Amino acid sequence: MAKKKNTGTSAKKRDTPAGKAPNKNKSILTAKSLDFMERYLNNASPTGFESSGQRMWLDHIGPWVDTYFTDPYGTAVGVVNPSAKYKVVIEAHADEISWFVHYITNEGFIYVRRNGGSDHMIAPSKRVNIHTDKGIVKAIFGWPAIHVRTPKNDPAPSLDNIFLDCGCASKEEVEKLGVHVGCVITYEDEFMVLNGKTFVGRALDNRMGGFMIAEVARLLKEQKVKLPFGLYVTNSVQEEVGLRGAEMIVERIKPDLALVTDVTHDTQSPMMNKIQSGDIACGKGPVLAYGPAVHNNLLKKVIAAAGTNKIPFQRSAVSRATGTDTDAFAYGAAGVPSALISLPLRYMHTTVESVDRQDVENVIKLILATLRSLKANEDLRYFK
Ligand SMILES: [Zn+2]
Repeated sequence: MAKKKNTGTSAKKRDTPAGKAPNKNKSILTAKSLDFMERYLNNASPTGFESSGQRMWLDHIGPWVDTYFTDPYGTAVGVVNPSAKYKVVIEAHADEISWFVHYITNEGFIYVRRNGGSDHMIAPSKRVNIHTDKGIVKAIFGWPAIHVRTPKNDPAPSLDNIFLDCGCASKEEVEKLGVHVGCVITYEDEFMVLNGKTFVGRALDNRMGGFMIAEVARLLKEQKVKLPFGLYVTNSVQEEVGLRGAEMIVERIKPDLALVTDVTHDTQSPMMNKIQSGDIACGKGPVLAYGPAVHNNLLKKVIAAAGTNKIPFQRSAVSRATGTDTDAFAYGAAGVPSALISLPLRYMHTTVESVDRQDVENVIKLILATLRSLKANEDLRYFK
């Protein structure tokens, strides 16, 4: 979701493998899918530099689509029934917030710039990867020790004072490593599972979305569903800097209808404010947004599909815009009826973004059920 507004076990050592459901409910997620999910989440795909993740995603969905295409900035689209006239999009965004190398001091420290809504509050003491032509260069966000800070000199982290140390004593030494202004920086934190059911990692916003729409494509294929329309499984770039990838691809596809998935804030954890952000809980199902960009007739179909298939859901109201690619689809290509099916998530834009496994499954089920309920030529106009 664009910003407008270690305990636990490691992936390798966790007690409950992600592939094993902790309860008796049969999971729709296969071990192979979960293996992809983990690799896809751990791979870096900074906004504007998403190609390696997109390649991985396209290779993954290949068996379940008839064809695919990419656009100049890297949005990837897998297509089922490419010759069909009526086009339905299911969409997520592929990019991950990151930092840019902005200014290298003579002493070899690096100041950064945001690439998307990266959070200065969480930076101090984090380990990072600087992406260079020579490969990954390791660095750390340093911070003065608690011993030397005083009540009068105890600054909060801000873009002006957070800095990277890559073990170099001069600008020349930094440059020798291959680091230059404009290199992107991501955190090295990787996927893990808490309590057998909470998925944790970087950029689950919104690569969990890319995973979920891929799962929809897989299930359609495996269940031998013959859709009466063209399906465009779309993984857009550059959402985090203003829905840019979606703005581009909507004009290229010119779809008739779009189901967008992204993450939204769970409001149950400390310091969240339900008056400000609504009452949303991880574990209680997909969140359906109400707002002008969301097409009410399409939303009714999503809700009907949830009812028929006994999929739990929650509701949220947005002011003006959804802040997701839904807006780009709704207001692009002369107006595309769009709906937003969100995955509740805790700690957005930190390295410990968390979602509930059951919610992941229910978002997949709800997109799938909605697609199965759509006819060949849905005319969703409010009146004629
Ligand atoms: Zn985001």
